[in-house]
Amino acid sequence: MPDLNEQISIDAVTERLRAVRERVAQACERAGRADEPMIVGVSKTFPLRAVEAGQAAGLTHFGENRGRELRDKARSKIGAFKGGDVHWRMIGHLQTNKAKFVARYADWFDALDRPGLAEELNGRAARNNRVLPCLVQVNVTRQEQKYGLPPEATHDFLDRCAQYEHLAVKGLMAMGSFTDEVETVRGEFQEMRTLLETYDAADNPRVDMEELSIGMSNDFEVAVEEGSTMLRIGSAIFGPRDYD
Ligand SMILES: *Cc1c(COP(=O)(O)O)cnc(C)c1O
Repeated sequence: MPDLNEQISIDAVTERLRAVRERVAQACERAGRADEPMIVGVSKTFPLRAVEAGQAAGLTHFGENRGRELRDKARSKIGAFKGGDVHWRMIGHLQTNKAKFVARYADWFDALDRPGLAEELNGRAARNNRVLPCLVQVNVTRQEQKYGLPPEATHDFLDRCAQYEHLAVKGLMAMGSFTDEVETVRGEFQEMRTLLETYDAADNPRVDMEELSIGMSNDFEVAVEEGSTMLRIGSAIFGPRDYD
């Protein structure tokens, strides 16, 4: 667990975010897009000060990948972020026994990838009297060590989500391959967009296909070109991480 009270330079965060926004704007222009995607600041492993710096620079959504760290940061809202517009997102793989942290403290869950977890989260969200917005994670690279549903299984899983009254599916999330071959990643992102656009949600009141969360520090420009609505960016904003 990182030291959440560590100091970091607000100026450095502000400057990196400015540079990221400029690259996003240029990618939008290349792609002829009028709407810019939202930037989720991936604050996992970074201290509270990083979130404050991001917030000061205009970010409102922050991504975490550990249940307890998310809880501790979200609870601190009472102090540092009082009155601030801060939304916590669980973006990483969630063990079923950690669902309670997400149902209680996360504003969004971006890595829904299996029926057992949906069942558990639905029950926990019900006990907290809420509806949890979720993204369904797809393993678009088809690598075994990656989490997410196989692309072929995604539409059936979305159909199943109709039964979970305390979950509201808002779209899809994926990680591209870690490679310098831009065209490989582009193909994966195009496949994600097709999966999003070909799902027929007409009979499923619990699913909206509005959001496509693709693009991280190393591949956000191609994600913008391929229709991302949410970029999940950590190190390009907050600096290098020692570990994930
Ligand atoms: C860590 C993480 C990110 C951000 O990664 P960066 O390379 O630091 O931008 C995005 N998405 C997920 C699911 C992550 O775990």
